[in-house]
Amino acid sequence: MSQRHAVVAGAGIGGLSAALALHRRGWRVTVCERADGPTAAGAGIVLAPNALRAFDTIGFDATRAAGRAVPAAMGLRRPDGRLLSRADTAALAARYGRPPLAVHRAALAAALAAGLPGGTVRYGAAVTAVDDADGSPVVRTASGDLEADLVVAADGIHSPLRRHYFPDHPGLRHSGETAWRTVLPAGPGGPAGTAAAETWGRGERFGIVPLADGRVYLYATAVVPEGYRPADLRRELLARFGAWHDPIPALLERIDPAAVLQHDLYDLAAPLPRYHRGRVAWLGDAAHAMTPNLGQGACQAIEDAAVLAHLADARDLPAALAAYSAARCARTDAIRVRARRVGRAAAFSHPLARAARDLAVRVTPARLARRALDDLFDGFALPAALTPAA
Ligand SMILES: Cc1cc2nc3c(=O)[nH]c(=O)nc-3n(C[C@H](O)[C@H](O)[C@H](O)COP(=O)(O)OP(=O)(O)OC[C@H]3O[C@@H](n4cnc5c(N)ncnc54)[C@H](O)[C@@H]3O)c2cc1C
Repeated sequence: MSQRHAVVAGAGIGGLSAALALHRRGWRVTVCERADGPTAAGAGIVLAPNALRAFDTIGFDATRAAGRAVPAAMGLRRPDGRLLSRADTAALAARYGRPPLAVHRAALAAALAAGLPGGTVRYGAAVTAVDDADGSPVVRTASGDLEADLVVAADGIHSPLRRHYFPDHPGLRHSGETAWRTVLPAGPGGPAGTAAAETWGRGERFGIVPLADGRVYLYATAVVPEGYRPADLRRELLARFGAWHDPIPALLERIDPAAVLQHDLYDLAAPLPRYHRGRVAWLGDAAHAMTPNLGQGACQAIEDAAVLAHLADARDLPAALAAYSAARCARTDAIRVRARRVGRAAAFSHPLARAARDLAVRVTPARLARRALDDLFDGFALPAALTPAA
């Protein structure tokens, strides 16, 4: 059998993971990226144990490849610094085989791309259409047409391919929140010795995630109208978070407003009915955009990539894509719904609702908290493989 060709639309973490997974299974892969260069945002990312396990099946070691990923078990605090729940890196590592890891997104994307043959990723190559009337797709891109056996739609939360193939889907819904993200270089006021933690206030959250080499990934969220952009970002962040516990005020002083990303938070208003159509498979945010409240968006994209590549070894590719949908839809949608629910609780602004929420977090029995994490961190498994291609 001649080498099969996969065209991946989008060079985000999902698309690059799928490309690497397919390449390692013998596929010829072309990644078409709309942007003119690498798109990894100037932000960090936390990879949960389930994503690291999915990477294992691809043969990608994020710990080594992405330039010193750092353990990042996230505790929860109140704005005065009081702990609501403790995160124990060693306990997580013991239970799930390894703790969550924090890494710079650009380092992760570069490490994934480095595993691909030169020329695999084409920039400035937006996918404009896929013609698959006779079952052999032709991908139209800004830099020419490509014949493919498999098309992977990893074109992100606003996925043009999702809109094209699922015209009746209601699309995205705004969560009511916006998020700011940045990475501080190593320097004074950094959280030396501070563990990764998230702090919940009145409709606002602030996260501190130490990265390698003393850099610090910061994120913050607030309940604001869709499209809200502060005129003076530093002043806005100081007004919201400047009186919170140390080291938040000192970290805010070091922010370069020009290096802060702001994104309003959305998820899919309804699940997609399936993650495939003919020989096109959706993955990552294109398939199941979720709010980042569980830190699982990219983790699920990585799981998708591992499962898709594993099943795509099959002789009958349409059957493999149906099996991919069957394996992925329920898990990813349950996480999308749960992320939305967590976001709603975290965004409470009424004092009574906040007090009840904080109390609930403090008194939740360890057994229940563990079960909630087990679903996420222990929930990845490869499905049974289909009859392989000769
Ligand atoms: C504030 C915040 C914090 C987060 N934190 C975490 C976290 O800690 N852990 C975690 O697991 N997840 C996290 N997430 C979620 C995570 O960022 C996303 O789920 C993940 O990046 C999705 O990856 P993707 O490859 O599916 O999409 P993207 O990264 O959006 O990539 C899509 C790519 O497709 C390209 N593209 C679009 N249209 C076309 C086209 N027509 N042709 C070609 N290319 C195209 C885009 O340019 C882009 O490069 C967070 C999200 C936010 C907003």
